[in-house]
Amino acid sequence: MAPVITLHDIHRVYDSGEVQVHAVRGVSLELQRGDFLALMGASGSGKSTLMNTLGCLDRPTRGEYRLDGIAVAQLDRNQLADLRNEKLGFVFQGFNLLARTTALENVELPMLYGRHRGSRAAMRERARHCLAIVGLAERADHFPSQLSGGQQQRVAIARALVNAPQVLLADEPTGNLDSRTSAEVMGVFQQLNDEGITIVLVTHELDIARYCKRSLIMRDGRVVSDQPVQPRSHAAVELQKLKDAETAAQLHPSA
Ligand code: ADP
Ligand code: MG
Repeated sequence: MAPVITLHDIHRVYDSGEVQVHAVRGVSLELQRGDFLALMGASGSGKSTLMNTLGCLDRPTRGEYRLDGIAVAQLDRNQLADLRNEKLGFVFQGFNLLARTTALENVELPMLYGRHRGSRAAMRERARHCLAIVGLAERADHFPSQLSGGQQQRVAIARALVNAPQVLLADEPTGNLDSRTSAEVMGVFQQLNDEGITIVLVTHELDIARYCKRSLIMRDGRVVSDQPVQPRSHAAVELQKLKDAETAAQLHPSA
């Protein structure tokens, strides 16, 4: 099958008058359907720049990007927005939920602009379904401030799913979460990936990359390593270990 994402010799030079920053320097990459890529590298290595390209939020200075067979460079702004809406879901480090809006309404929002726009009842139903997928059916009417960080991130994942994207792009989605909550959130990503969604996830934590299938390391705008993750961690198993350790600590508080 054709890859869902193809990057060929992508460059991105930021030109702010006096200084030029060559943030991405010739990245080529293929992602098959069902891939789950951890994008790693030190701060400033070009991860976010590459994610902005993948997300059709920014145009590369040079090189070719194909998303689901479509050559992105040829599209105008409106076509790009449509493509983004139809094929991509975004998850951010800071959750980016609207504060005065319930979980359910936050999840409904992207449907207003996408091809899943429908009757009020149909959209509500679909948003509920997505909240159920991330295990938050019971919290639909809660506001973000009434939810834990992990729950807020799961609402954000539900929101990213609502237009049935082929690819999820997540830039440091566990960056604000403790390790147990991170494992929970990674469990949700693994479950979605098992169901066929392709995921690209930026992280600088090796522990998080271990939940992915493939790990790619960038340095100074280039790919310096691209390898399968072996052995792959499974969030359910890791969570059980963390819970067992907590129970043990409660039984033997001195330890
Ligand atoms: P990472 O996400 O890996 O930390 P970035 O892609 O954010 O890396 O940044 C890569 C390089 O590009 C850095 O040197 C950064 O300072 C520079 N950069 C990022 N965004 C811009 C911008 N909008 N204008 C100028 N330089 C930028
Ligand atoms: Mg970044």
